[in-house]
Amino acid sequence: MNTFTETTNTASTWGLYEQMRPQEIEAIQEKTPIAYLPWGAIEYHGNHNPTGLDSIKAFNLCKDLAEKNGGLVFPVVNLAANLIKSYPGVNFPKHSIEFSENLIRLVCEEYLEQLVAQGFKIVVLLSGHAGEPHLTILKTVAEEFNNKYPDKRFWALAEFDILPNDLLVANHSAIGETSLQLFYAPETVDLETLPKDRLITLELDAVSGDDPRLATIALGEQIVTSFVKNGSIIIEELKQKYL
Ligand SMILES: [Zn+2]
Repeated sequence: MNTFTETTNTASTWGLYEQMRPQEIEAIQEKTPIAYLPWGAIEYHGNHNPTGLDSIKAFNLCKDLAEKNGGLVFPVVNLAANLIKSYPGVNFPKHSIEFSENLIRLVCEEYLEQLVAQGFKIVVLLSGHAGEPHLTILKTVAEEFNNKYPDKRFWALAEFDILPNDLLVANHSAIGETSLQLFYAPETVDLETLPKDRLITLELDAVSGDDPRLATIALGEQIVTSFVKNGSIIIEELKQKYL
């Protein structure tokens, strides 16, 4: 993935915040004061997907939204609560780095406050991890900021919030997440590690949702296209109202 030339082009309408110099940041911010905050997790996603799936998904979807609508993409926040590690009824203690709900709330509050101080008027917080109450905490903090700063907008969402159910529903390492991972980083997926002779289950495979053995790059692309289309409609409305 070569974003260097894109982020250093003076005519850029979007960029990766941490890879840019102040003048480059300000040139974009002046036109489009939108911050994208991808919120990920390090979490066991079964044997077929990498532990950073939620982070890779959130980052790339934010990047695609920014490319289409302008603005600045921040580095992924790799902090999450309510991981599969502590999910009742399953036993997957390894490969998840889990933080407390209190810490997630605090980091979210401080991050959004800093983005306000840096002059952003719209903040899109995309959570790749949908554990609860992790996701609700992020959405609640965003709502609190909407009340505190009525002239700005904080939009916290998970990707499935703006996708039709026949394309993607909340899932853990199932067909939806695995297709997205195949689309964005195919070299990190190994469907061969999934059993061929039995049903896929949450207890054995850490999969919640439809069969990941049916995942394809083409489905991942379809999900991304729909996400960017629907997300861009909402961002356009927010731009009209808040910029
Ligand atoms: Zn996930």
